[in-house]
Amino acid sequence: MLAADFLHLQESVDIVNRWADIFHLDIMDGTFVPNISFGFPVVEAIAKVAEKPMDVHLMIVHPEKYIERFAKAGASMISFHAEAALSEGSDPGEILDLIRRNGCKAGLVINPDIPVETLFPYLEKADYVLIMSVFAGFGGQKFIEATYERVRAVKAEIQRLGTQCLIEVDGGVGAANADALAQAGVDLFVAGSAVFKAENPETVIRAIRGEA
Ligand code: ZN
Repeated sequence: MLAADFLHLQESVDIVNRWADIFHLDIMDGTFVPNISFGFPVVEAIAKVAEKPMDVHLMIVHPEKYIERFAKAGASMISFHAEAALSEGSDPGEILDLIRRNGCKAGLVINPDIPVETLFPYLEKADYVLIMSVFAGFGGQKFIEATYERVRAVKAEIQRLGTQCLIEVDGGVGAANADALAQAGVDLFVAGSAVFKAENPETVIRAIRGEA
């Protein structure tokens, strides 16, 4: 939703309600990432009209402080950055548990410069992992090609463990790379600019699904 038209938010919400599967909401605090996006008033407004689950991606320091509030605001899925938790001395596993106790699916995120092995100890606790395919903090960036190899490495470990953990990618995702990402093992595709800046968002979403 970061790429949505905030003066006409209902139109962007309608696009997701009609053609997509989840709302992906990027929450930035100006500290973990340099940028600031939007907060509870916007999340709650979208929740009132969302007909699809809301996936809240926390790009914030001390994510554990805000889990309950985002769950109450209507999130069904909440993810946070492993590197944020680890640098603060928090245990990502405990935050994943906290998210689940609040009734949400729990996700762990890493930026492109964090080794994928960072995720491995948590693959049995996480419902999904989000492998950033651009650096967290800004919309509209170019997809990083090394993402394919990173997805394959995480997928191999998930299969080795025999867990149900899903893989999500976020950043620079569109019709041009969705098929190759799916083959690498991606389950959930976050597309912002590719959809909302398109002439025909439905066509783009269908293409990402592999229907076109
Ligand atoms: Zn995101």
